[in-house]
Amino acid sequence: MSSHLLEHAYVDGEVRDDVLVETSDGKVVSLRWWGESSRTAAGRVTGLTLPGLANCHSHAFHRALRGHTQRERGSFWTWREQMYDVAAELDPDSYYALALEVYREMRATGITAVGEFHYLHHQADGTPYEDPNAMGRALLAAADEAGIRIRLLDTCYLAAGIGREPEGVQRRFSDGDADAWAARVEAFGDDRVGAAIHSVRAVPREQMKTVAQWAQARPLHVHLSEQVAENEQCLAAYGVTPTRLLADEAVLTEHTSLVHATHLTDEDISLIGDASAYACFCPTTERDLADGIGPSTALAAAGARLTLGSDSHAAIDLFEEMRAVEMHERLATQRRGHWSAAELLTAATVTGHASLGFTDAGRIAPGQRADFVTIDLDSWRTRGSGATVETAVFAASAADVSEVWHG
Ligand SMILES: [Zn+2]
Repeated sequence: MSSHLLEHAYVDGEVRDDVLVETSDGKVVSLRWWGESSRTAAGRVTGLTLPGLANCHSHAFHRALRGHTQRERGSFWTWREQMYDVAAELDPDSYYALALEVYREMRATGITAVGEFHYLHHQADGTPYEDPNAMGRALLAAADEAGIRIRLLDTCYLAAGIGREPEGVQRRFSDGDADAWAARVEAFGDDRVGAAIHSVRAVPREQMKTVAQWAQARPLHVHLSEQVAENEQCLAAYGVTPTRLLADEAVLTEHTSLVHATHLTDEDISLIGDASAYACFCPTTERDLADGIGPSTALAAAGARLTLGSDSHAAIDLFEEMRAVEMHERLATQRRGHWSAAELLTAATVTGHASLGFTDAGRIAPGQRADFVTIDLDSWRTRGSGATVETAVFAASAADVSEVWHG
């Protein structure tokens, strides 16, 4: 048993002062409200302590593009060519080394759990490694070493586009068909493995069910309607939107996270809301790639649950992702006040962890994991702003994280 006295802590939706937290075996055992006399207690953690943050959408290897891909003009599709050049180079050792740095950056900035959307499965020509899960194991090992919890969203990626064989580096991504994907994932033998369908572009519709059936109640993540071109291709091939296709193939459930969910029709929004699916927004990536602004408030009103991710890691700063959802909505609507700070923090904590299948994390409460992040309230960005959730979400940055506990 160990105990920490938190100067300010976000508990049950409000900031409480002088909270004594007792932990054992990586979990919170009890919380007590301490009195004035404790103000000078040794071991007091100064600042505002929040639950650890969940980064629900990561491609660790995209980090190598930071500062490089921003030099040129173009579109999502020209960016993708640069991303493929990096993907072609990695092997399990270099993937481990790169991911370790990325996960260390996450941990240092208050992220205690990550959903890694992983499709770099095989050797450059598509031949499996001796252990066909060597690349995925490199990511798990990197997360362990960095001290961050991981859900490895092992991704089924079978096609270059609807009806097109994988080409070039995409051969690294493909298992051939969904049955072979399921057999490889089943052989992984690690309960941190969840599932992903790369997109309606990369998995033929008749094979989506195989992935969903393997996933069952495990987290299942899908890139959805990030680009208008995806919608056009899906309509041309199948006569329905990507969202409708996922619904028709029984992929849209309460365990499903729809990453980006940017270009949606009203019917799409209703389908996602009716399923109580998660909508994972990645605002710093979506603006870097000129994707567009997704309908976050309409999705929430329909019943979808917002989560957040740093995706391509143009930045790793969940504080920026939180406020960007609100800020982008302001630019799109010319009105302020769509998302409260508390709602955005819930997306980055409780809801985010749940979407990764971690139901024992995201709150500072007895029985929950002792995953905490403390922000400095005396930095240039935060001083004078108060020990409030608004300071955390609308003023603080990743640079203000002073302490991180993981279990
Ligand atoms: Zn992605």
